Amino acid sequence: MSEVKGGPVLCLADDALFEEHVSPAGHPERPARLSAAREGVSSAAIARGAPTLAARDASLDDLALVHTGEYVTTLSRIDGKSGHLDADTFYSPRSFAAARRATGAALALTDALLDGQADFGFGLMRPPGHHARPAQSMGFCLINHVAVAAQHALGRGARRVVVLDWDVHHGNGTEEIFENDAEVLYISLHQSPQYPGTGAATDVGLGAGKGFTVNVPLAAGADNAVYRAAFERLVLPIIEQYAPDLTLVSAGYDAHVRDPLGGMQLDGDGYAWMTRRLVDTVRSGPGHRVAFLLEGGYDLGGLRESVSRTLGALEEPALPEIAGSVGARHDAQIAAAARAQSAFWRLP
Ligand SMILES: [Zn+2]
Repeated sequence: MSEVKGGPVLCLADDALFEEHVSPAGHPERPARLSAAREGVSSAAIARGAPTLAARDASLDDLALVHTGEYVTTLSRIDGKSGHLDADTFYSPRSFAAARRATGAALALTDALLDGQADFGFGLMRPPGHHARPAQSMGFCLINHVAVAAQHALGRGARRVVVLDWDVHHGNGTEEIFENDAEVLYISLHQSPQYPGTGAATDVGLGAGKGFTVNVPLAAGADNAVYRAAFERLVLPIIEQYAPDLTLVSAGYDAHVRDPLGGMQLDGDGYAWMTRRLVDTVRSGPGHRVAFLLEGGYDLGGLRESVSRTLGALEEPALPEIAGSVGARHDAQIAAAARAQSAFWRLP
């Protein structure tokens, strides 16, 4: 698809139902996050006039693309009720409906990109998804939206889908769903040690999926310069060689310096830089289309700023100045991740 004059085309996905998933008071994954993210969207020029897609409810068959039938049945049974599925994943009467529509939003964005209706998509969904395992909820997540969307894209004929996960937590569910799969390249940058404890650099995929799982675990304190180094030495060269048909970003913003759950030091410049370099990298391959799906991010100001800067970078070709250098510990961690991938990819 070619870009229309006036710049790249963005489409959004959002739904009032996403506010109706509530956890007990004090839970960080709260409806106010959505208001903050919406403010971030409306402050970005590219979002002005961008259509908001009507999200359908994902069908139970859609969920079964990546989840077991037994787990889908478990989820159906929480509809209309309140409780918890594990220690930190709660549900309210509308949670399953909200989660299904959030998956539907991810599917609507995927379809819009594959149909050539837009270059970029941004989905403002709750609850998040990347910890949801094939047969188990986890870490505030009921349904793994990005995984359903990636599998749906393959069903529509995509052959290579990148899932880039820059949430501060490792997306263990997404990795597990695609670890045997070469058609989905899962790349995660995450804090380590940190919940959920998975995502070692040496976990590179299994069987036919070997080399198609890329983990970059980083110690607390990683800032814009560290993420830039990881992108340049490993993440971007791998994406460029893979030449995806479609890129889905698990766009969590809990690596922001202000986030209460994460211990990283990214700021708006860092998210803008990563977005711009990603977009420039996939533009040189066959698929320039990128959808961003909201995952974590628990400081409202940090979330607002990060969403705004992500969207701003989609139409701003200049890269923000990234100051600082990479310390020895982070340098060694990036080197270890690159070493683990060097059997599969040409790295600088
Ligand atoms: Zn997270």
